[in-house]
Amino acid sequence: MRKLMIDLDETICEGGYLETVNEYLKTDYKYTDIPSYYVEDVMDEEEKEKFLDYFYQNVNIYQKVKVIPKALEVIEKLSKIYDIYIVTAFVDKRRVKESSIMAKYKYDWILENMPYIDPKKIVLTSSKDIIMCDVKIDDKVSNLKGYGKIKLLVNQLHNQKFSLEELDRLGIKRVYNWEQIYDILVKESE
Ligand SMILES: [Mg+2]
Repeated sequence: MRKLMIDLDETICEGGYLETVNEYLKTDYKYTDIPSYYVEDVMDEEEKEKFLDYFYQNVNIYQKVKVIPKALEVIEKLSKIYDIYIVTAFVDKRRVKESSIMAKYKYDWILENMPYIDPKKIVLTSSKDIIMCDVKIDDKVSNLKGYGKIKLLVNQLHNQKFSLEELDRLGIKRVYNWEQIYDILVKESE
């Protein structure tokens, strides 16, 4: 069975973070207002520091996330033809100690929502380039570098800066939804 690496945030589930920032600041930002990867970049440095303290003490973002349409159904079907690893980062460089709680939140969410994934195949790391999987799915181009025969980039606002030509040079294909991912990976497994 071929090995398949799947990222969690903005690949399987998304959202919640902007909602948290809006609740904290009492604002109404939309994702289209935020050009960078980090939503909190809308704040100045001092405000950001206070927000991060609040965030790690009070918020479990995985109680607010939404599943990307069809992600869970497709992954369950793929789990019959691929050996699946959920690979997700949890260390926040700005709060190295406090961000350990994210490992628990992520682990719990995966256990609850993806019972067909072997818990031993949940990999919590930011160093995704060490992962030797045949197929990789992620919304960040940097996580798709290194080993891998098929690399799929989940289309998200923050990765629009990569042109199709550039992705092509890196051996990466941009994908727009989980039905498309399913079709590609079923064909590949035959
Ligand atoms: Mg991600």
